[in-house]
Amino acid sequence: AVLDKIAASEDTYHCYVTVEREKALQQAAGVQKKIEAGELTGPLAGVPFAIKDNMCTEGTLTTCSSKILENFVPTFSAEAVLNLEKAGAVILGKTNMDEFAMGSTTETSYYGVTKNPRNPEHVPGGSSGGSAAAVAAEECFAALGSDTGGSIRQPASYCGVVGMKPTYGTVSRYGLIAYGSSLDQIGPLTKDVTDCATVLEAITSHDPKDSTSMKRENTDFTSALVADVKGMKIGIPRDYFGEGLDPEVRDAVLAAAEVLKAQGAEVEEFDLSLVDYAIPTYYTIAAAEASSNLERFDGVKYGYRAQDAEDLHTMYKRSRSQGFGPEVKRRIMLGSFVLSSGYYDAYYLKALRVKALIKKAFDEAFAKYDVILGPVAPTTAPKLGSSLADPIKMYLGDIYTISINLAGLPGISVPCGTDSQGLPIGMQLIGDCFKEKTLIRAAYTYE
Ligand code: GLN
Repeated sequence: AVLDKIAASEDTYHCYVTVEREKALQQAAGVQKKIEAGELTGPLAGVPFAIKDNMCTEGTLTTCSSKILENFVPTFSAEAVLNLEKAGAVILGKTNMDEFAMGSTTETSYYGVTKNPRNPEHVPGGSSGGSAAAVAAEECFAALGSDTGGSIRQPASYCGVVGMKPTYGTVSRYGLIAYGSSLDQIGPLTKDVTDCATVLEAITSHDPKDSTSMKRENTDFTSALVADVKGMKIGIPRDYFGEGLDPEVRDAVLAAAEVLKAQGAEVEEFDLSLVDYAIPTYYTIAAAEASSNLERFDGVKYGYRAQDAEDLHTMYKRSRSQGFGPEVKRRIMLGSFVLSSGYYDAYYLKALRVKALIKKAFDEAFAKYDVILGPVAPTTAPKLGSSLADPIKMYLGDIYTISINLAGLPGISVPCGTDSQGLPIGMQLIGDCFKEKTLIRAAYTYE
């Protein structure tokens, strides 16, 4: 049924880079047998999933929506994908994204834009825009995305679905093609909070193949699907409601806070002024890590190689010049600059210091509050074609999501209404490290 749905609406929305119809049917048949033999009993057995195209999938093209990986077929699968398959999930294909996860609209993909199923004149958000759109268009039941600075939460909010970025280290990054390694985290995009908890539970694991993977206890996240926030302390950062926030988004998010208050939560405003420094800090650190991570794409070991180069250096240069798009090149240049001798102390090191201060500000907030509540993005989904011309403006749109990655915290985006154009609005709930259960409980109570 879901493959039929893809056949019917994929031409309109373009959620996928690759659909593996035959492979999915084969996998489903295998799962069916195991279900009948009683070997697979969990809630994800037989459930069709979509995977963002920056997670390796054995035998299936994995492009990161870049020309430079146009022919890259991995020989192994990402640990998160394997965990899903162990639970009986069926993988339908790979979803469109901003090239190497750099962007907020899914318009920097080499393979064309994805349209927002709630209104196809608008972007689905990004960078996990294909995953969010696939869930919204019912071209899958749930999807995996990755979030370096908001790439799960922001497209979830633009497409009216639930998206969660877990605490750093919760889901293995093994097989996730790195963007900013200290910030990247895989997480679920789902129709509701129950599905989100179910998927998170399945993909969480301690993985020695990822040196930043955590050994966590009590990861039975579905046990937190309880509608009860009595006595929960919710902090609303005043700084998240200032200049630049669309009044319709503000009103919807504050109304959501009132709903939780009516359910017995204690809601209070507080100051989180360091947020002003989050954007320059994030774009310094993320670009620095990206410039290093993307060195490996040199035309030798993976993907696209420019033809007819007369020597090795020309081959590297042409492969990278032709293989990467403009946004990726901008980040590589910015990252190389902030890491270069003479500028390292002034930019990169300073950004690391500010990152530590941002973490401290959140630590202080979580000494008082169980959950921080705010918007996901300053506006609803912009029109297609209206964002790329001004990268700085696009970067500013990440204001509410990126500090969560800098501090390693978990965050969830939950639909909380629509604007006057009918475009979805998301509220963001942020928790202290390892407090996903608190977020799930609050989100479930609201929903
Ligand atoms: N929009 C942000 C960026 O371009 C976040 C992307 C992400 O989380 N992968 O870096």
